[in-house]
Amino acid sequence: MFENYGFTVAERFLRYVQVDTQSDPGSATQPSTEKQKNLGRLLVKELQEVGLADAVLDEYGYIYATLRANSDKSVPVICFCAHMDTAPDCTGQGVRPIVHSQYDGGDLVLPDDPAQVISPREHPYLSVRKGDDIITASGTTLLGADDKAGIAVIMDTVHYLLAHPEVKHGGVRILFTPDEEIGRGVNKLDMARLGADFGYTLDAGERGTLEDETFSADAMTITFHGVSAHPGYGKDKLVNALKVAAAFIDSLPKAEWSPETTDERYGFVHPVRMSGIAEKAVVELIIRDFFTAKLAAYEAHLRDKVEDAVAAWPGASAEVVVAEQYRNMKEVLDQHPQVSEFAREAIRRAGLEVRESSARGGTDGSRLSFMGLPCPNLFTGEMAFHGKHEFVSVQDMQKSVETCVHLVSVWEERS
Ligand SMILES: [Zn+2]
Repeated sequence: MFENYGFTVAERFLRYVQVDTQSDPGSATQPSTEKQKNLGRLLVKELQEVGLADAVLDEYGYIYATLRANSDKSVPVICFCAHMDTAPDCTGQGVRPIVHSQYDGGDLVLPDDPAQVISPREHPYLSVRKGDDIITASGTTLLGADDKAGIAVIMDTVHYLLAHPEVKHGGVRILFTPDEEIGRGVNKLDMARLGADFGYTLDAGERGTLEDETFSADAMTITFHGVSAHPGYGKDKLVNALKVAAAFIDSLPKAEWSPETTDERYGFVHPVRMSGIAEKAVVELIIRDFFTAKLAAYEAHLRDKVEDAVAAWPGASAEVVVAEQYRNMKEVLDQHPQVSEFAREAIRRAGLEVRESSARGGTDGSRLSFMGLPCPNLFTGEMAFHGKHEFVSVQDMQKSVETCVHLVSVWEERS
């Protein structure tokens, strides 16, 4: 199917990464940075040029577009989703992508800062991709493969399907979101306008990867109250909230329940912010596990630790507030097993082995799944994201395009 196809994914990718789309967690606007719309406008123009006439960039920075069905069958509407922003952790200004053709398996020294070396010792997947064309940044910025690889894959999938009307498919909705990296990717999403039945985010790494599971996540905010008094005359009166908060944090488990000591299937509790004065201190934590039911156990344990800390400082008090953040998408996907099953079939048709994986974090897909769009995550080849060592294989991106094409065709066949 693809022997004679001139893939456009790499050329598109090189164009998109040069547009700075860094999001900003400190901004209250939506999108958090106006510059994300610069890429948005470019993408809408490209979508309209290939014939997706309804392509639109809305005021919140979302792009919606439709590839119309070419099948007479009644096929569920599938959404392909990717995010336009790049991580706040590393600058995305002036990205200069470099193609290392037929990568030789050695260290990749980045020319604009030769201290930046991408080594297969640190990134074993690089060795696996020896012989591929590897794209990196130049040493002073991130690359932005997360998630412009996903955007380029979706754009090339559309390009392929328009050029090959013999591949039958139902309606395909394209969704590009802003602000995924700061956890606001779906805040202003209009589900009715999207009008899709099932979705796939294109935002995972190694070829063949299907992520159908994420953490379940809560946030906990603990406010410790002390008793203020003039420190010169504070004997037997003053209670310092900072000391109570510090005692609480020190009492947290260290060898377990911590992100620095756990991996794979284990969850954790993690203090992410602490602020305060002697009179009042606030500790914010995030709580993560693949089993939603376990979150309550962590929370009960944390409440006990809060009580212990407060009891050790007579006069102190504390309040605990828990807020739900997102839930493991598997709870939704298990009710729609065909969504992941068709993805596995598409990956196999692209000649790859399926690599099942669980995301130790959330994706836009975890929230979309609970908003009514069951939405696992598919590979694009993006690796080592959020830093200067980010890289992607051109051949992996092409395999991702093949997978998406097979996927819409599997949906049509099985409908
Ligand atoms: Zn991403």
